[in-house]
Amino acid sequence: MREGSLDAPVRHPIAWRDEDFYDDAKIDAELRRVFDICHGCRRCFNLCDSFPRLFDLVDATESGEVEGVASSEFKQVVDACTLCDLCFMTKCPYVPPHAFALDFPHLMLRARAAEFRKHGVPFVKKQLTETDRNGRLAAPVAPIANWATRCGNSLTRPVMEKVAGVHRDAHLPAFHGHTFERRARAQKPELNRAAPAFGRKVALYATCFVNYNNPAIGEAMLAVLAKNGVEAEVVYPACCGMPQLEHGDLARVAEKARTIAAELRPWVDKGYDIVSLVPSCSLMMKFEWPLIEPNDDNVKALSRAVFDASEYVVDIAKRQGLAPGLKPVSGGISMHIACHARAQNMGQKAAEMLRLLPETPVKVIERCSGHGGSWGIMKEHFEVALKVGKPVAEQAKTNGSAYVLSECPLARDHIVQGMERLNGGPVTVEPVVHPIQIIARAYA
Ligand code: SF4
Ligand code: SF4
Repeated sequence: MREGSLDAPVRHPIAWRDEDFYDDAKIDAELRRVFDICHGCRRCFNLCDSFPRLFDLVDATESGEVEGVASSEFKQVVDACTLCDLCFMTKCPYVPPHAFALDFPHLMLRARAAEFRKHGVPFVKKQLTETDRNGRLAAPVAPIANWATRCGNSLTRPVMEKVAGVHRDAHLPAFHGHTFERRARAQKPELNRAAPAFGRKVALYATCFVNYNNPAIGEAMLAVLAKNGVEAEVVYPACCGMPQLEHGDLARVAEKARTIAAELRPWVDKGYDIVSLVPSCSLMMKFEWPLIEPNDDNVKALSRAVFDASEYVVDIAKRQGLAPGLKPVSGGISMHIACHARAQNMGQKAAEMLRLLPETPVKVIERCSGHGGSWGIMKEHFEVALKVGKPVAEQAKTNGSAYVLSECPLARDHIVQGMERLNGGPVTVEPVVHPIQIIARAYA
């Protein structure tokens, strides 16, 4: 829920094809206009690292005003933004339709797009975020890749830090030899034709993370859908482009949006709901793609058909009722609500879903984990990412739950890493990351 204005926030299409969008003088003027409003407001002082940097810069000037800050200093504010969207969706009373028309994350995106047009992204950083190519390359040699990227590998991680800029202590996701797509083709769970939701059809968008790094999340979703009589097909044309959005490479995101939406359109036309397993990808398909490609009919149709995994299960529970058989899960659950789930303005669907479990205490943590996708693993950001996420790690540690979950699997592992920092050593939590895995367990 957003503070301040009662009107729902509105977002305008991103004018990335206009030359004005990249005009340095115009960007500087807009940054100054928006930063001046933020300086007078300061509600977002503790959301991330962007706002503290901005306010520190202003406070260090003689005048105490934005006009005293050199434009060259703005880059650090722009670079610290992880595009989590929380300021826009949950805090800012000045977003459109307010006359100030303030969209802080999309202004950061514009500044990055201008930077990208001038300088691109460093070669190694670009390679790190080619998730499909990296996943395909790593799958056949998964044991070696996982050995090389494991935290604590004193042979490889210092080299990775030096060459690729990845902090040696940042947890990196493991790769799997058998992708989720391959596993789903090999084995389909049996469809429960007696379930109240029988007749629904889902095209399950695998997401790069689930496909290459954690197929167990996808398998859990397939099991839950089958238990509820929902026919499901796994689809995965390509990564949604969130890493390229973070770089400001909007032409590449637009290309991905057009291609993937065209490939998924036949499923939409056949009456399938499109369900995504990671909120960042749902956010892209529901909200960012239509702002980047507002005239593409496939993108528009897809945006209306997309659900988050938890959102979809809650939708079944509300409309038809879930299939019986859910058993309690012991040990308690700490449920982190990911920023990109909050940014979809749909309520705490993951917590709502888990509360369908009998006699299972669920504690919600609704604050940024600090990870920010590829941002938080880089050497220059890793410690800041842990600092931003410290309140979340503290709350999870205090809760003492057996399960620490997030719909954003990267955020979940980052939270556990923060808990380990606080603890001064390993913490004991169940090796399950996504809430749908708990629902699958409760049905087992
Ligand atoms: S989008 Fe997120 S990271 Fe960026 S300024 Fe807003 S709250 Fe901070
Ligand atoms: S983004 Fe909005 S709420 Fe946040 S500091 Fe700026 S004006 Fe205030």
